[in-house]
Amino acid sequence: MFTLIDGRKIAQDIREELKKEVEELGIKPGLAVIMVGEDPASAVYVRNKGIACEKAGFYHETHNLTEHTSEQELVGLINDLAARADIHGILVQLPLPRHIRENVIINTIPPVKDVDCFHPMNLGKLFAKKKGDAPLDIVPCTPAACIELLDRYEISLSGKNVVVVGRSNIVGKPLSLMMLDRDATITICHSKTGDMENKLKEADILVAAVGVRHLVKSHMVKEGAVVIDVGMNRDENGKLAGDVDFESVKDKTQAITPVPRGVGPMTIAMLLKNTMKMAKKANNL
Ligand code: NAP
Repeated sequence: MFTLIDGRKIAQDIREELKKEVEELGIKPGLAVIMVGEDPASAVYVRNKGIACEKAGFYHETHNLTEHTSEQELVGLINDLAARADIHGILVQLPLPRHIRENVIINTIPPVKDVDCFHPMNLGKLFAKKKGDAPLDIVPCTPAACIELLDRYEISLSGKNVVVVGRSNIVGKPLSLMMLDRDATITICHSKTGDMENKLKEADILVAAVGVRHLVKSHMVKEGAVVIDVGMNRDENGKLAGDVDFESVKDKTQAITPVPRGVGPMTIAMLLKNTMKMAKKANNL
């Protein structure tokens, strides 16, 4: 029997914990979300972030800008939000229209309000963190979601062989660093990795963050492995599917996240946690 890692339930628990903290501390964490253009998937993510804020008792506002918004206008809005005391987190939903440079926008968000943890300063802190240092204030949301799920299910990383498939700056790379900090031994795979199947078979904990539907099949997974599926892919009918072929893989695992209801809702919960930490810092708490 495998354990189904229930991201939706844990995310709900975290929202409730945060709501209690909001009430006890008497502060109102504030999150501003900016969306440029009308990408339907982004619209869903932005809406879900607003709903999560409401459930946790946070203030939130969403700025829906047209796809013709200039880079300068977007920078101006970020600077306005950065100056406001009631906004503790600023998030610009990616991807952006091609005429807006992503790096310029990421660098405009002040590191203390960068609740997505995309700013090079915050990523640099993650890289520079030594064992025994205090936990970081802001951590990348999706990697933090994977680790929080393991923690809540009491799955230790120490001494484990972890294979992370994917090396993006928002998932694979920071997650590998965070797991290394937890004393795991990490192998990172990507599109040019040779003999990937045999590498996956070595994994005590396997994380798939690729964006290829059902890339990971049963024969690639070690008996008793823990499988974390970050992938969010649409099948031909528009149904959400992960990078892992859940039905064929699940019975081989000790524990596995589903898609949906796995890492996805947890990523938003981690965004709220980052915002709370920044609100507490702003209030000297
Ligand atoms: P990304 O930037 O496109 O990176 C994908 C990574 O997968 C790259 O490193 C790429 O290798 C690697 N890759 C692609 N095809 C491969 C293959 N056949 N074999 C091995 N590696 C392969 O994607 P991302 O932003 O990290 O997102 C990955 C997935 O996670 C997507 O489905 C995305 O929607 C999902 N996601 C989910 C959440 C959540 O909250 N659940 C959050 C973020 C992302 P190269 O570097 O060599 O190109």
